[in-house]
Amino acid sequence: MSLKDYTARRDFSRSPEPPPKEKSSTSGRLFCVQKHLATQLHYDFRLEHNGVLLSWAVPKGPSLDPTVKRLAMQVEDHPLDYGSFEGVIPEGYGAGIVMLWDSGTWEPQDADVDQALRKGDLKFRLNGYKLKGSWVLVRTGGYGRQTSQQPRGTSGQDGKSWLLIKHRDEWSGPLDIAEFAPDSVKSGGDFADILAAEPPEFWCSGRPGRSGRTGALLKRIVERALALRAEREARRGATGARAERETLRAPARPTSTRSKQSATRSRGSS
Ligand code: MN
Repeated sequence: MSLKDYTARRDFSRSPEPPPKEKSSTSGRLFCVQKHLATQLHYDFRLEHNGVLLSWAVPKGPSLDPTVKRLAMQVEDHPLDYGSFEGVIPEGYGAGIVMLWDSGTWEPQDADVDQALRKGDLKFRLNGYKLKGSWVLVRTGGYGRQTSQQPRGTSGQDGKSWLLIKHRDEWSGPLDIAEFAPDSVKSGGDFADILAAEPPEFWCSGRPGRSGRTGALLKRIVERALALRAEREARRGATGARAERETLRAPARPTSTRSKQSATRSRGSS
């Protein structure tokens, strides 16, 4: 395990991401999921092992439904310090907004983690705010073949493609956790809040050129963050936040015409 790939891709004089600092953890193994609004929205799933964070990019995010297998592309190891990072990466690799979507501790269910990783079958328990109980990462055979399209650090060998699957237990269920609990466990905010909370000096130190390619990329990401919030507010406005939560708990239940009308009436009179 090495942070060589992580370091090689980043200029720490320009990026607010922490530089790698090898250190040993004293209180259990860290796990975190960072929701990352970059060119594509995805969830970075990270497990502390041997002083680094093993990392997988999960495009659709974790699912609590044991019948749902979520593609998880293994990416380069990250430094432990990165596991509490939330903020803006103004330019370079991973440019965008990082939200600490979940964090906590994990424990392997196999005694030998390295062997489980080599075998491509790592069973573990999570103790986070949103994700708990027993899970498995299984390497797949069909994906992850080396192509010229893959960024450095994911190439060089097959087997970077895994599936993240929830085991059936008291923490599994049909709830769409990414939709139900979309915000940060660190700040409570959404992407737009994280953007707004950025201290100005921090922001200025890495502000990209407005005419540059990354400047345009960041502008699109900022617009996307605001659009995501507008979408959510529009949904809340239509049904009320409470009704939205109830609907999410029971997604099969259609919203009746009558409840829509009463929601409209109560909103109109307030
Ligand atoms: Mn990412």
